[in-house]
Amino acid sequence: MTALSPREILDRLVAFPSVSRDTNLPLVDWVQGYLASQGIASTRVPSPCGTKAHLYAQVGPAVDGGIILSGHSDVVPVDGQAWTTDPWTVVERDGRLYGRGCCDMKGFDALAIAALVEGARRPLNRPLQLALSYDEEVGCMAVADLVHAMVGALPKAAAVIVGEPSMMKVVTGHKGGVGFRVHAQGYEVHSSLLHTGVSAIMESARLIQWANERNAENAAKAPNPLAADFVPPFTTLHVGMIEGGTAHNITARDCRFVLEMRVVPGEDPEAWAAAALAEGARITEGMQRIHPGTQLQMDRFFRVPPLTPEENGAAEALARRLTGDNGNHVVSYGTEGGQFQVLGGYSTVICGPGDIAQAHQPDEWLSVEQFQAGWAFMQGVLETLEA
Ligand SMILES: [Zn+2]
Repeated sequence: MTALSPREILDRLVAFPSVSRDTNLPLVDWVQGYLASQGIASTRVPSPCGTKAHLYAQVGPAVDGGIILSGHSDVVPVDGQAWTTDPWTVVERDGRLYGRGCCDMKGFDALAIAALVEGARRPLNRPLQLALSYDEEVGCMAVADLVHAMVGALPKAAAVIVGEPSMMKVVTGHKGGVGFRVHAQGYEVHSSLLHTGVSAIMESARLIQWANERNAENAAKAPNPLAADFVPPFTTLHVGMIEGGTAHNITARDCRFVLEMRVVPGEDPEAWAAAALAEGARITEGMQRIHPGTQLQMDRFFRVPPLTPEENGAAEALARRLTGDNGNHVVSYGTEGGQFQVLGGYSTVICGPGDIAQAHQPDEWLSVEQFQAGWAFMQGVLETLEA
C-alpha cells in the first residue's frame, strides 16, 4: 500500500466517531493496520474493560535519545451542537478543515502517523515514537498505563511533544487538576427540630466554605516562581454544580456537588486532594456525632498532574529550535503532558497545530496553514533524528 498523505490520514481518523464514552478500537484497528501495511509494528495497551486501547510504535534504531509524538484518539461529543457540516467528514472550505477532532487533536495525530511512516524510510540515528491514547477528554487518567508501557518497552526518548492545539507555540506549563464528586448524606427531620437532624446542604457548605478560605489564602500569598506566569498565579478551588434538598422545612437528606482544584506547578495535586479528603473526614465526624450513618462521601473522578516548566528542558529546546518561538507560554487547560513528565520522567512540552478556541466547538476547524506548519515541524523532527 502506498503511503497516505497527512490529509488522507486525517480524513480516515475523523471518520471514526471516537467519542470518549465509546470504543476507540475501530480507530486503533485502522491505525495499526495502516502502520503494518507500511512495515511498522505497533503495540496496543488495552483498557481494563477491553473496549478501548492505547497504541504505541517506534521507527528507527532502538537507542535512547529519540522523540515521542503524543496525541489522543478520543474526541468530545457533538450532541446538541449545531453543526453545518457532517462532523465525521473532513470538509475543506476557505482554508479551513472542518470536522470533529480536526483541531483537538486528530490533525496532530495524522501528522504524527505520517511522520512515523516517513521516518521508517529515512536513515534515522535516533528513534521516532508514537503515543496514541484514549480517554484524554475525560480526565487524562488512562494515559498513565501508556506511559508505563512505553517506559518499560522502548528505549528512553529525550523529548515528548504533546500536540495539543497551541498554534505551534511552545507551551511549557499547565496547571494540574483534581476533581471530586461529593455526595453528602444527611438525616431528615422537620427543620424545627434542626438540632436532631443533619442537613446535607449545610454540611456541604462547610466543605465549600473551606474551599473559599483556601482560595483567599492562596490569593494572598506570594506566588511560587513556577506559577508566576499563570493567570491567576495560584491554586484555585471551585464548585461548579450543586443540588440537594426537597423542601424548605426538611433538613436535606442528600446534597451532591462537584469540587475541582486547579493546582499550579510547584504544588502537589495529591497533597491538595489529601487536604480536601481530610476536611471531608472532619466534617463527617461532626455529622456522625448527631446521627450515625451520615457522611460526606468523596469520589475522585479526575487527576491531572501539572506540566512544570523545566530548566534547560530538551523538549523545550527542540520545539523552540523547530518553531522559532521564544515566547513564554503556559495554558489553563490540562493535557497528558504532566503524566509523561511526572510518571515517565520525560522532558515534555506542548506544541501542536490549531487554536484551542476551536476545540470542542460546533464546526470545529483547523486551518490548512496550521496543518502545513505542523507538517513542517514534523520534517524538522525527522531531520533532528537523522543528525
Ligand atoms: Zn485535546
